[in-house]
Amino acid sequence: MKAISKADLYRRLPSVDELVRHGQLSRLVSSEGQTAVTDAVRVVLGRLREEIAAGRLEADGVDLALSGLAQAVEREARQALSYSLRSVINATGVILHTNLGRAALSAAALDHIREVSSAYSNLEFDIATGERGKRDVHVDRLFGKLFADLNVGAGVPARANEPSISTIVVNNNAAAVLLTLNTLAEGGEAIVSRGELVEIGGSFRIPDVMSKSHAVLREVGTTNRTRLADYENAVTEKTRLLLRVHRSNFQITGFTEEPRLDDLVELARKRNIPLIEDLGSGALIDLRSFGVSGEPGVLDSLRAGVDIVTYSGDKLLGGPQAGILSGRSDLIARMRANSLFRALRVDKLTYAALEATLMAYVKGDHDAIPALRMMRLSAEEIGARAERIAERVQLSKLSVEVMDGESVIGGGAAPSAVLATRLLAISHKDLSTDEVAARLRGSDPPIVARVEEGHVLLDLRTVFPEQDEALVKAFQVLGG
Ligand SMILES: *Cc1c(COP(=O)(O)O)cnc(C)c1O
Repeated sequence: MKAISKADLYRRLPSVDELVRHGQLSRLVSSEGQTAVTDAVRVVLGRLREEIAAGRLEADGVDLALSGLAQAVEREARQALSYSLRSVINATGVILHTNLGRAALSAAALDHIREVSSAYSNLEFDIATGERGKRDVHVDRLFGKLFADLNVGAGVPARANEPSISTIVVNNNAAAVLLTLNTLAEGGEAIVSRGELVEIGGSFRIPDVMSKSHAVLREVGTTNRTRLADYENAVTEKTRLLLRVHRSNFQITGFTEEPRLDDLVELARKRNIPLIEDLGSGALIDLRSFGVSGEPGVLDSLRAGVDIVTYSGDKLLGGPQAGILSGRSDLIARMRANSLFRALRVDKLTYAALEATLMAYVKGDHDAIPALRMMRLSAEEIGARAERIAERVQLSKLSVEVMDGESVIGGGAAPSAVLATRLLAISHKDLSTDEVAARLRGSDPPIVARVEEGHVLLDLRTVFPEQDEALVKAFQVLGG
């Protein structure tokens, strides 16, 4: 029998036009639109032509492909029209995973976003007077409550004879630091310890932000030791502020020294220059009972007399991405008057999510905030869930064990804090650990696990209980 030539095989393929008008695809055209279906048809036919050109398809293969053409087009169209940004299951145990969107929002935050953004809102409208309002009021009010309540609760008197505290919000903490430096130190000097010239997540480096803000970085001390006298000796008439930066993602141990915050406050007062603290993670409550120590709290710094603190909305605060500036009202007013503030401001979605998150703090309902709830889970609770899953997946090719391990906070917060947990360790008869991890990522929704020392590890601390079922399903597919 004479082999069929490639030209003959090409001729068997329908034209794009013919296919789009094909009865089976008309339903798809009406649901997804003519353009999307035409594009999908082009892709599918193009793939077939490539296969023929490469000699990978004979007559039988072409006929088989043609019989499934409509389905292939449908699959292609659905794939092309699906969202790129999608929900994943975070089984890494890293609570504030920067690559996975840091903090998950509370149900109340999502409800509030929907409520105020699916219709109009009073974002910048004073309902009582009918006049123009300010968008900051919606969260400044709650920050005011939090700062006042916690002061009283801790038995510390309100800051008598001191300027009031206000709060404004920008796009992220990097923006908050930029705005602070530009507002208060443009054209002048900002003093920072050499031990605090940090880099956070690649593109945020204190010296770079400093130069973008047009402030001149005045480094003092050494990497491991900086004394009060170092700051004191560096203050000149050019000094505009003292900046303290939290070493969020690393630790310095050994022969180290840094001035106490109180001493820096006193120096700043004496020389009449503001003390700024870039806190980063923004803990609004004491997290020691959650097993997280060594993270400076926003309130501790304000109480100590720091003039402005900057922190992220989506680290330990557990809300939306945002940069928050809290501190002396007169300085905050200058920040707000800076035209950079207009460029860095956030929209109603962020205010809605932040307002709802802060409301949970005001009510003391910390478990409503997913990041805090996850921190609080005990190894026993996590272990019990892990055991239940392990019992349900007795499969020939997949072995599932439960073992001790550690979760981390992540997201450039609390680098030394580890929380005891119980891990699901899985291994496969025929697949390597990397292949198993890749298969898990290929599940729907994708499951992101940790690969460590020859194990694929899943930490249920960061898996929502309603997602456990999806893990079981993925294991069954993997091991069946
Ligand atoms: C995380 C962090 C930043 C950057 O905050 P983003 O909200 O990611 O912009 C800046 N400074 C410190 C100390 C941080 O920990």
